[in-house]
Amino acid sequence: MPNASDTEVFDLAVIGGGINGVGIARDATGRGLSVYLCEQNDLASGTSSWSTKLIHGGLRYLEHYKFRLVRESLLEREKLWRIAPHIIWPLRFVLPHHAGLRPAWLLRLGLFLYDNLGGRKRLPATSVLDLTSHSAGAPLVPEFRKGFEYSDCWVQDARLVVLNAMDARDRGAVVETRTRLVSARRVDGLWELELQHANGAQTKRRAKRLVNAAGPWVASVLSGAIRLNAAAGIRLVQGSHIVVRKLFAHDRAYIFQNADGRIIFAIPYEQDFTLIGTTDQDYKGDPAKVSASEAEIEYLIAAASEYFRQPIERSAVVWTYSGVRPLYDDGASKAQEATRDYVLVADTPEGEAPLLSVYGGKITTYRRLAMAVLDKLGIGAGPKGSDWTADEVLPGGDFAMDGQSKLAAELQRNHPFLTDGEAAHLVRHYGTRARMILGSAKTRAELGADFGHGLSGSEVRYLMREEWAVTAEDVLWRRSKLGLRLDKAQVAALAAFMQAETKASRP
Ligand code: FAD
Repeated sequence: MPNASDTEVFDLAVIGGGINGVGIARDATGRGLSVYLCEQNDLASGTSSWSTKLIHGGLRYLEHYKFRLVRESLLEREKLWRIAPHIIWPLRFVLPHHAGLRPAWLLRLGLFLYDNLGGRKRLPATSVLDLTSHSAGAPLVPEFRKGFEYSDCWVQDARLVVLNAMDARDRGAVVETRTRLVSARRVDGLWELELQHANGAQTKRRAKRLVNAAGPWVASVLSGAIRLNAAAGIRLVQGSHIVVRKLFAHDRAYIFQNADGRIIFAIPYEQDFTLIGTTDQDYKGDPAKVSASEAEIEYLIAAASEYFRQPIERSAVVWTYSGVRPLYDDGASKAQEATRDYVLVADTPEGEAPLLSVYGGKITTYRRLAMAVLDKLGIGAGPKGSDWTADEVLPGGDFAMDGQSKLAAELQRNHPFLTDGEAAHLVRHYGTRARMILGSAKTRAELGADFGHGLSGSEVRYLMREEWAVTAEDVLWRRSKLGLRLDKAQVAALAAFMQAETKASRP
């Protein structure tokens, strides 16, 4: 791994290891720039692991006439699926027609546009469903007789962040996690950054350009560490999700309309669960402390229970999570109407090192956002062209777009002890890099410690060595969602193992 020294001058420094920061770092590194990125906590510990996890055009944004945003997002779906077929895959969405809400012709028109605005080559088109006979109708109350089915994609959001960071690092970027920007000053035409590491150490880095991709912290980093007045307003919008025990057996997701004009999704999640979300409400306070309120949980339960034959009990909720959208404040009255588009705000005084701050955006558009950032900073395309990130796969993604089952079968052939579930887990997290975890193991024991639910010592070592995992929480809630399954004793065993590994690796 490259080492950053205090004297090195980087072409670009990026603050924030969410999807936007790592996307910018990857793109810039691939264009030949020397890049430094710091993240104050773990990668994806901010908004980027609290999303609904969809690579989508955003059907409902059509109602707000956001055609440019929807088209750009739709175009991204198959590109991202191609570069990361292990962590991104197609998902069909069932939209039941609700007699009291949007008329069927409007849904049909919206879906026609959605299918045809651009970029759909492999994803199947919209179809009409007779919910009285189709399996997707079975879990719903009988009033819902007709529905539509359309395509979008699912993404393991936190893993998309880590894979972009790994790729940036493998191409030469210096990525430091648990490293907070304390101050940034312009000195002699360069940015001088003061950084605080988790172990208390302080270091300095210098760079020709600075990008503030601190997500919900973008304004506080500007006014605090950089000591500049924010030129643009930020609107923090909270969105919460609930995870309940599996509500239906098929592999489609639902999109439900609510009487208040909002929509929620109910999505098959981690084999045994259903993910329901999201809410949309303005948020004030520390983004790190956001959590789902009881009112939001009740709202999601009530909204989904309108549709499901079997009403959802409060006791079925096994986990909740909440995130804060760092939106550009466009003055919209309702939180749900505030633009999801990204806005880049430059601060480039004559003769001084430039600064660019990132507002808004979606996971879906992170690649386009990175291109726009580099363009705005006047950074040229590089030998592979400005769209190179659409062509080069992310680590572990070097297999066919529809090749998950084939890869899982190969893993089981070479490592016969793997169950179907374990092979699927390895493919959907690591793709071809699962081979690095499994090595030549012919028995489970050869993978070392067994923390339960297939999590082995070998996998944890890989995550610590290759993916910046330091704590049990990093492994259980961001590199995977095994936190939904492991019990307290298993978590404690994992934490002890990781501490011992860290200690042993110290010089
Ligand atoms: P973040 O992920 O928050 O990253 C910023 C990082 O900066 C943080 O990790 C933080 O720790 C770090 N940082 C802050 N200050 C400092 C400092 N001083 N020094 C070092 N590091 C610092 N988008 C989609 O495309 N599809 C969806 O389905 C979707 N669903 C969503 C659902 C919800 C509820 C929410 C809230 C958002 C959703 N989004 C979705 C939007 C998407 O999640 C966000 O736009 C995106 O994750 C923002 O990424 P980011 O990198 O800008 O911010």
